[in-house]
Amino acid sequence: MNHFSELKLPETLTKALQAMKFEKPTPIQEKAIPVALTHRDLIGCAQTGTGKTAAFSIPMISRLLKNPHKTGLILVPTRELGSQILEVLTKLTLFNPELRSILLIGGMSMKAQIKAAQAKPRIIVATPGRLVDHLKRGNVTLSSVEVLVLDEADRMLDMGFAPQLNEILRFLPKARQTLFFSATLPSNIEKLSARYLRDPVRVTVGAVSEPVKKIQQSVIQTLVAKKNDTLLDELNLRKGSILVFARTQSRTDRVARYLTEYGLKVTRIHGGRSQGQRNAAVAGFKDGKFRIMVATDIAARGIDIPHIAHVINYDLPQVPEDYIHRIGRTARAGAEGEAVSFITPEDRQQWREISKLLERSGAKVAVQ
Ligand code: AMP
Repeated sequence: MNHFSELKLPETLTKALQAMKFEKPTPIQEKAIPVALTHRDLIGCAQTGTGKTAAFSIPMISRLLKNPHKTGLILVPTRELGSQILEVLTKLTLFNPELRSILLIGGMSMKAQIKAAQAKPRIIVATPGRLVDHLKRGNVTLSSVEVLVLDEADRMLDMGFAPQLNEILRFLPKARQTLFFSATLPSNIEKLSARYLRDPVRVTVGAVSEPVKKIQQSVIQTLVAKKNDTLLDELNLRKGSILVFARTQSRTDRVARYLTEYGLKVTRIHGGRSQGQRNAAVAGFKDGKFRIMVATDIAARGIDIPHIAHVINYDLPQVPEDYIHRIGRTARAGAEGEAVSFITPEDRQQWREISKLLERSGAKVAVQ
């Protein structure tokens, strides 16, 4: 498939894709969309930043346009990912204002969400915890859901959402299409998918867990006491926007404060900040007000900021797979990017685990 027009999508959707300047499908879209359009269940595995959002949104919208009484549900692990998906849905339904999407995520007013839910939305994008709250209070019904998407399914399990997912499952009709998307497919996904999916087609783009090839990866050996100096050196050496990952909320605050004291333009994002603060941080980083964003793993997935040139792992991630997600924040949609990780003697075991994952994908990492 060379062009979206070959898919015979509803005309309004094709027009919206043109307005978005999406002409050629990305590899995951090329593989997943034709399968999803046949109403089969699907497990899609692709690298971060490869166009997964449109890969599930296009078939969902196409189906809902044909069935005016049916609805779609998209479950996501983080608020940021939810907001981003809503933006894409809004663009894809530019010529179908009747297909309204709403966002049910934590950290936002329940009241406004109840009002939005009462106005018969056709697509709900939700984080599991908040959706369960709404379901228990009877604010939302899922009985007309015909297409269910679980995005970043592996992260949802990592974040301990399995009980909420099982609860949500009870409210969903059995006759529906289910699409699972994830950048990595750990074994517990198989268990969950057996519960959710019927005879799914698997589509994989690139090797499982393979990081984007265009990212130049390197490690710098340093000491805990020297990390801040090393970070300053690296920031001075590099041009363009830089995302710095730290392990905890307090470490994120500390690193951001340290850099601010040196006169750098820094913002920070972690789960301890309010939704307003998080939105402002991402917006400021996106529009270049801040060149540097310090973040916990909350930013490792889902945030799509095309111009991130560098990812710096000030601290290594706890879960090896998160390394792939973190570095996937750069080199998005075909751009080039660099990822550098600081390794102290205490990190050796953790780095060995990450290296094993990288070896399998054939990625090369330069050691300094
Ligand atoms: P995603 O993996 O969904 O976050 O998408 C990553 C980036 O690729 C986003 O900036 C999208 O706007 C862009 N993108 C997705 N699909 C296409 C396409 N078919 N043509 C051009 N850009 C795309």
